[in-house]
Amino acid sequence: MEVLGRTIPDNLAALHDEVVNLRPDANLRFTRGLTEDFPSLAWHIPDASGNSEIRLSENFTDAALCHELLHVLLYRRGFPYASPLSTFGAHTLTARALNCCVSHTWLGDEVKELGVEDFWPPPSLGTDPDITPFEDRIVQAWNLAEAGETSEDVQLNDMAARFREAAEKCAQPGATRWRRAMVDVLQYLDGLEKREEGAFGPLRSIMVTLVVTEPQLTRTADRMMELTPLGGESIGFVHKQDGGLFFYRFASPGRKRREMVELQQELKKTRTEAFLDQYWVPYTVDLRVKK
Ligand SMILES: [Zn+2]
Repeated sequence: MEVLGRTIPDNLAALHDEVVNLRPDANLRFTRGLTEDFPSLAWHIPDASGNSEIRLSENFTDAALCHELLHVLLYRRGFPYASPLSTFGAHTLTARALNCCVSHTWLGDEVKELGVEDFWPPPSLGTDPDITPFEDRIVQAWNLAEAGETSEDVQLNDMAARFREAAEKCAQPGATRWRRAMVDVLQYLDGLEKREEGAFGPLRSIMVTLVVTEPQLTRTADRMMELTPLGGESIGFVHKQDGGLFFYRFASPGRKRREMVELQQELKKTRTEAFLDQYWVPYTVDLRVKK
């Protein structure tokens, strides 16, 4: 099999086929375009309909490609995914660290079953010339946590410890557990960041896919979700119980306040399942959560 004109090893091709077969109706495509100074050689960009793009740099490695394919695999199996509101804007690397944090312990075992252990562990996350100083620290903390190392910087160690704690909690797969762990870390990071009043931190800049239980789907939507104003004309959808953002939509220009009131009324009278379908909100159902 060839990816952007280069033949990839058979075991990677087999992983690719397994990923495709999980959801043959969804699209998986490889594109060029990651620049040399980008902090990773490969990048998974999912869309709200379950399709995935893997963007690659010209000099991508098998290990970098394998890592993205594994994240697509998890995405297709219905595990929650953290995405920044703008794909390559601020908080992009934080979202990446969260996705890796909850999944890598389990993936470390899975790679043997999938026959791709030669490509594990994945390359560590690099930094970005345009990154904010705070996000740069998040990347450093995640890399420390992943490598099992410590630093002389006390706050950095604390941040790394939070990543490690979340990773341990998520050693066993569980969609609800993974979402909660990601939102918990986001809340913690949000509290650490000093920023101007009214500015949005990680908690309101990163969405984590919604995970619901079957009983939740039948209740009215306001039991589980609420709205929050985001920047510009955006309206954020927040999970009431864990406080994490899972979706946003644009209001018509100048109608944000009015549309929030209307949406709020709809939440109260619509069942969760119908509401989510109406607004094309992606979600997964965790069948393992006890009723
Ligand atoms: Zn990862």
